Amino acid sequence: MQTQFSMTFLGVGSGLTPEFGNNNVLVEGQDPDAVLLIDCGYTTPPKLLDMKRLSEVKHILITHVHADHVGGLEVVGHLSRFITQQRPHLYVHESLLDELWDGSLRGGMSRTQNREGEPAMLALADFFEVHVLHERAPVIAIAGLPEITLQPTLHVKGKPAFSVFLGDRVYYSSDTQLLPPGEGLSGAPLEAIFQDCQLVGGSSNVHTPLEQLARELPPERKRITHLMHYGHGWEALDPQALGFAEFVRPLQRFDFGADGHG
Ligand SMILES: [Zn+2]
Ligand SMILES: [Zn+2]
Repeated sequence: MQTQFSMTFLGVGSGLTPEFGNNNVLVEGQDPDAVLLIDCGYTTPPKLLDMKRLSEVKHILITHVHADHVGGLEVVGHLSRFITQQRPHLYVHESLLDELWDGSLRGGMSRTQNREGEPAMLALADFFEVHVLHERAPVIAIAGLPEITLQPTLHVKGKPAFSVFLGDRVYYSSDTQLLPPGEGLSGAPLEAIFQDCQLVGGSSNVHTPLEQLARELPPERKRITHLMHYGHGWEALDPQALGFAEFVRPLQRFDFGADGHG
């Protein structure tokens, strides 16, 4: 039997349309500890605080280091250390660590003062229970959630980035130039594909162009493809007419499990 879980999109915007919310997803199992946030951009902590749900997030997975995916970690780390005394589990692939800490978070998080008011230094592990992932395609096991498998992808040439399989039936591209796969890791058919897309331009740059997805994906794959991480102009487009499932909307929730995709 498959693990039942849901995915709630806290935002669906691209790096250049943050008003649609950063494209980050809350993955929830049946167990109250089985709450995983895929990416934590700068719009996500205020969104979760608004929903009174930030303290429920026990696990955070980072797919790559762009502000719409990691820009909220500073405030989550500070709230965790100084207010709630919770330490969320943070899953980071080793290839992302330097960019994440030295390139992004250190300026705002490392320097502090000790009890005596003297300068002191903090590290990422002072804020989060850090799990550094070493394999090329690591599997993350969290009780109550499906196995999460990272898959290296091509987003910006030379920059590490990962797509995500949730169990064997759901593929989440995060940011990529690559087309989604036809099947799950074991060869089983996918139930749902969440694919980032670029609405303007027809050739691959840093995100998969909608035009290319429409042209190159077979109809049965398009039918289960939910488009996310999009820019302006989406209202004028008809994704169903192009063969896709839909544009994911902010706060849209998807349920997966024993009864299939609900
Ligand atoms: Zn992004
Ligand atoms: Zn990105």
